[in-house]
Amino acid sequence: FRGVIAVDGPSGSGKSSVCRAVARRLGLRYLDTGAMYRAVTWAAIDRGLDLDDQPAVAALSRGLTLGISTDPAAPGIAVDGVDVDGPIRTPKISESVSAIATNLDVRADLIARQRAIIADDGGIVAEGRDITTVVAPDADVRLLLTADENARIARRARELHGTADQEALKATHAQIATRDARDSTVVDFLVAADGVVTLDTSALTFEQVVSTVLQIVDE
Ligand code: C5P
Repeated sequence: FRGVIAVDGPSGSGKSSVCRAVARRLGLRYLDTGAMYRAVTWAAIDRGLDLDDQPAVAALSRGLTLGISTDPAAPGIAVDGVDVDGPIRTPKISESVSAIATNLDVRADLIARQRAIIADDGGIVAEGRDITTVVAPDADVRLLLTADENARIARRARELHGTADQEALKATHAQIATRDARDSTVVDFLVAADGVVTLDTSALTFEQVVSTVLQIVDE
């Protein structure tokens, strides 16, 4: 298989780790589009911009050099030569990213870059919120990974806090709910578009999700 696999899903659906694993097993490239929205958010904060100043943030976005590794064994992103892989995963960025993701001029800029990367030689697994619908609606395989809220909160709590105890679950619940509500105002990523296969991962282990995706690709 040397084509394009488009995967969308909400946070906590497990899509990043699943997509990386699928890309590795199939020898494909991997693109995390969420990292691009996070990188622009990081840059806007770093430059002291008002995140709600949409023209200023869009101008910043268009001027940034985004260095993106599409190696699924070593994904990463740099902004104007600065490695921001760690800084873009902080709670501060997660809380602020919706302001950037709802900026339509930023979206236009990042979508154009994503399409160029996807069009490069070699197949790719690209993941985000609007890949199956907007970025690559012609992808060979289009998947929506979902999970019920409890499963998503538990996964995210383990990622963020290293535990899924009561306190971690409570903090994570609030974060996920707020971000999903904001994100849904731009792209409807909770309902599969026509021709998109929905895979509910709630009751599946990581390995089961990966092998199900590989089966779907094989079909
Ligand atoms: O996937 P991740 O949680 O890292 O994405 C961070 C944020 O980037 C999302 O909450 C969403 O606001 C935005 N995003 C988007 N479109 C994409 C990917 C991510 O709007 N294709």
